[in-house]
Amino acid sequence: KQVSATELASHYLNRIEASQYNAFTHVDRTLSLAQAALADQRLAQGTASALTGIPIAHKDIFVTRDWRSTAGSRMLENYVSPFNATVVELFNQAGTVTLGKLNCDEFAMGSGNENSYFGPVKNPWDPSAVPGGSSGGSAAAVAARLTPAATGTDTGGSIRQPAAFCGVTGIKPTYGSVSRFGMIAFASSLDQGGPIAQTAEDCSWLLNVMTGFDEKDSTSVQREREDFSRNLDRELKGLRIGVPREFFGSGLASDVEQAVRAALSEYEKLGAELVEISLPKTELSIPVYYIIAPAEASSNLSRFDGVRYGHRAAEYKDLNDMYRKSRTEGFGDEVKRRILTGAYVLSHGYYDAYYLQAQKIRRLIAQDFQAAFAHCDVIMGPVAPSVAWDLGDKSDDPVANYLADIFTLSTSLAGLPGMSIPCGFGQGEKNSKRPVGLQIIGNYFAEAKLLNVAHQFQ
Ligand code: GLN
Repeated sequence: KQVSATELASHYLNRIEASQYNAFTHVDRTLSLAQAALADQRLAQGTASALTGIPIAHKDIFVTRDWRSTAGSRMLENYVSPFNATVVELFNQAGTVTLGKLNCDEFAMGSGNENSYFGPVKNPWDPSAVPGGSSGGSAAAVAARLTPAATGTDTGGSIRQPAAFCGVTGIKPTYGSVSRFGMIAFASSLDQGGPIAQTAEDCSWLLNVMTGFDEKDSTSVQREREDFSRNLDRELKGLRIGVPREFFGSGLASDVEQAVRAALSEYEKLGAELVEISLPKTELSIPVYYIIAPAEASSNLSRFDGVRYGHRAAEYKDLNDMYRKSRTEGFGDEVKRRILTGAYVLSHGYYDAYYLQAQKIRRLIAQDFQAAFAHCDVIMGPVAPSVAWDLGDKSDDPVANYLADIFTLSTSLAGLPGMSIPCGFGQGEKNSKRPVGLQIIGNYFAEAKLLNVAHQFQ
């Protein structure tokens, strides 16, 4: 007997209720079951699409009309959007059943999901470890089988790194592929939505729904629709895998290196050829990203003024005092740090020295990738320099968090697609079992190839 959408949703809602990972910010059984009933109707009428009835949960950075949209911030604790994000709308049209909204770092700023106003998410493989961030709730929920599919967003690694830390699969598509309309903005020239699921095959189905031109997003790319699952079964004979020297330097933990190198050997057995390449500006991606992303954030977050939406202080003397108090109370430490840094690098006298320089190096980073793709079809390496760290270990040390992004930032700065697939386990310092992710990077719009390469390994 076929399982109904209602039965499936109930199964996952029960699991969510019993779970203790703090992966969700908002669950509402009535809303989910109403959507499931509609899906069952469609299934009975024969008007179902491939994903009708499939449960999904959305990172709480995508705005939703029926659910609160918090972006992990006190600023938006009780915010309900008057419209759905395009991504949410596309999934609703496909007939997926929303199980709830997923916890994340505040305004997607973070690498451990410890910057959420709603508390940290726990890693299902080891609840004393972080799940990664900022899409920590998305990755943890998929890993703990609280949902078969989740949306995430990646500005500098926030899909790939939590997917790696939680042993699941995630893909950040080429910048411009997935509409940013209704995705609460962090750094607009970098933000990109994408799916997190158990496998590359599942991700391909989700991408089929998520991608496409949207006139409501000025950086949306106009391209013909493609079927991302079409190449999954292609053999990898002759595939040239670029292995960047800079991704295997002294900063890489040995347990991660071992797992990644073992995965590379598996690819050789599948007929691929390893080619050493160089991405010489990898290290510069950290200062460049941590100038550009805060600069854009300081501008994007100026809309939270306590007037139009979000938190407003209860008492204030005048308009300026209201702005100051509302923002002081509404934003967490990391968000304030980014606003300060961003406003500084954009200010008169510092713009040329910091922001403009960073933009120039950003271009060079993108050029390095193009030079590398002359010698290889895809690039592979670690997603992060270590396995998931312990909750609390880096929460007081922003720079330690920033350094952990070294292998994901350059892809985002170049706008390239990148994905993370599970490739074994390390021990970390605690001798516990913590997942390792293999990163696969492709040239612009090479998502179908990345998914093929990932699927052949899985
Ligand atoms: N860890 C990075 C940051 O804190 C990336 C976050 C993201 O991709 N949203 O900005």
